[in-house]
Amino acid sequence: MAGAAPRRTKIVATIGPASATPERVRALIDAGMDAARLNLSHGTHDDHSRTAELVRDAKERTGKPVALIGDLQGPKLRVGHLDTPVVLEQGTEVTVVCGDGLKPHNGELEIAPSAIGEVLRPGHEVLIDDGHVRLRVEEMVAGRARCGVVVGGAVTSHKGVNLPGVPIPIPSLTRKDLEDLDFALELGVDYVALSFVRSAADVRDLKALIDQHGSPAHVIAKIEKAEAIDALEDVLTETDAVMVARGDLGVEIGAALVPLLQKRIIRRSLERGKPVITATQMLESMIHHPEPTRAEASDVANAILDGTSAVMLSAETATGEYPIEAVATMDRIARAVEPSLGYRHQIPEATEDPTIGNAMSNAACDIAESLGAAAMLVPTFTGKTASAVARLRPRRPIIGLSHHEWAVRQMALEWGVTPRWIPETANVEDLWDRSLAAARESGLVVDGDTVVITAGTAVNIPGSTNVIKVDVA
Ligand code: PEP
Repeated sequence: MAGAAPRRTKIVATIGPASATPERVRALIDAGMDAARLNLSHGTHDDHSRTAELVRDAKERTGKPVALIGDLQGPKLRVGHLDTPVVLEQGTEVTVVCGDGLKPHNGELEIAPSAIGEVLRPGHEVLIDDGHVRLRVEEMVAGRARCGVVVGGAVTSHKGVNLPGVPIPIPSLTRKDLEDLDFALELGVDYVALSFVRSAADVRDLKALIDQHGSPAHVIAKIEKAEAIDALEDVLTETDAVMVARGDLGVEIGAALVPLLQKRIIRRSLERGKPVITATQMLESMIHHPEPTRAEASDVANAILDGTSAVMLSAETATGEYPIEAVATMDRIARAVEPSLGYRHQIPEATEDPTIGNAMSNAACDIAESLGAAAMLVPTFTGKTASAVARLRPRRPIIGLSHHEWAVRQMALEWGVTPRWIPETANVEDLWDRSLAAARESGLVVDGDTVVITAGTAVNIPGSTNVIKVDVA
């Protein structure tokens, strides 16, 4: 008998310095973490190096591939340094200082970078700390914005700021991002997440830098601004993967619009064959409680029913009191929901993405289903063929096999793919044998099981998928 069916939806957990101990990281992997996210907005390079090391060590010990994601801060606006919190009363006024070289006087709030002074106009909204405090610009005078306090509250040092609908004149990669990118690529991250994407060019520029560095890292475009929604199709063309970054998205466009946008982004990502992560506040109450609310359990379940490739935890695992329980909760919800997921593959229209790889993947799903195969085996150079099979959401487990460690780790984020490393070979017969051996070792396949293999016979040439083979393990 083969082992228990694997969970298909992947789990991303953010690891912060507070949660980076060997025991904790090992327990997160054991509970079901498939990808570890380093949030480069917080912590030092030393902290993140240590976390990456811990993930790698734990991965060696458990034998389970875990992807590493470096999440760049991007052009985030922030309140300047405050020695003590400033309490803003609704109905009063406050001056926001955002001009080049200007210093805030007593009671004034600085917002950086100062370039926003060029674009702020009367009527614009200034949202502080995820919109908990809301200001409206009344007047702009020489880099100082006189604002009315629409919703009051305490503002603490360096809190995030959003200006919905205001085009921000800042490059998508700040100086900090470029330093963090170099650091993350040196660290060997498998994915780089780009915050506040506004256009396809933002993704293209980042990909060019990653290429220059000689890294195989993939880009995750974080969709969290209205501009990114408008440019979604072009962004999907350029990017390798997508994140529905619901935190900033909710601040920028309003929380009420997030649920339908989430569905649209997931559907289009799936149709375009790009893995998609649904993120933020999925199990928020588990930061302090060992059990989720029913609404949170439904939110995770609904993202899975929407077709998301992965669900993500942020503060729940980075700083929360119940990180292991949060991962285990996502695991349980996914396993409870997945049996009701539709089987998605169908004959693609000839006009829609007519690649040989996609047609072969589709046919392989048909054969696996009609034979009741134990698994689909996908030897792949870059992981692309496994991704093409995953987008069809077949009911049969997918075992993605590559001799590149990086491709194996990247496949850890792909829906339904159990990634395995196999030794390199230039011989097709050896490729089948090695794939079957790795499939048996995975526990998903036992001697005598029928499997469907889809691969390229021009071994080690990416994009050459041209064979479907039915075999017996
Ligand atoms: C978000 O805004 O939802 C998000 C994932 O980004 P970050 O956590 O980096 O703010």
